[in-house]
Amino acid sequence: MKLQLLPSSFDEHGMASPRQHLSCFIVDDAVAIDAGSLAMATSAKQKKHVRNVVLTHAHLDHIAGLPLFIDDLFANLETPIRVHALPKVIETLERDVFNWEIYPRFSELENDNGAVMKYLPFNAGEEFQVRHLSFKSISVNHKVVSVGFVVSDGKTKFAFSGDTAEMDEFWQIVNREENLSALLVECSFPNELEELAQISHHLTPKILQKELEKFNRKECAIYVVNIKPMYRDEVVRQIEEMEIENLQILEVGQIYEW
Ligand SMILES: [Zn+2]
Repeated sequence: MKLQLLPSSFDEHGMASPRQHLSCFIVDDAVAIDAGSLAMATSAKQKKHVRNVVLTHAHLDHIAGLPLFIDDLFANLETPIRVHALPKVIETLERDVFNWEIYPRFSELENDNGAVMKYLPFNAGEEFQVRHLSFKSISVNHKVVSVGFVVSDGKTKFAFSGDTAEMDEFWQIVNREENLSALLVECSFPNELEELAQISHHLTPKILQKELEKFNRKECAIYVVNIKPMYRDEVVRQIEEMEIENLQILEVGQIYEW
């Protein structure tokens, strides 16, 4: 299984920056998890093959690229973009984004080949199939309804927390998974901003360290994602100082294979 966190900003030379402003992970060049930079950073191959988008929640940094992606591909889509999301997330998208004011309601529009966007709701706790991948959704602890996932292609498996503060159910479920190759977990704010992290339901390195005590797969590779760009250096330094075995920062743009 191949996974890439798409870039979402540029450095002073116009190259992809390691700072993650938006959240969009592409699995096997075919399925997107969240759509932050889906329109802006996908390769030609990904633009051709990604027709399924699985959303963790409706915050802007996770959905910003979705309306633009459908817009870019509108005339050429042969099948609709299938958006897999919680019913509450779909409700928010329809009310606040695809509402004819912010952007067109693509779920009601067609091109010459038919519908261009289709919602496939799932409930938290449900397992569902997206192309060759199975997704097990797990409620996490964020400011708005949000899920993490265990994603499997039948051979390899990874777990992804999405945006979250402290969790219990997620760890209970992930700990029961056999053959877990990787865990992607968020860490948004530095330790000094613990209060802000708690208000906004995110993790700091210190809280992450405590959370990882609940994770019983000590051999599994752990990747930190979703570091707030303006605190990246500080968060990375604090994470490195903890010297947690098997833990590293997931690099933007790099392709990981498990
Ligand atoms: Zn969020």
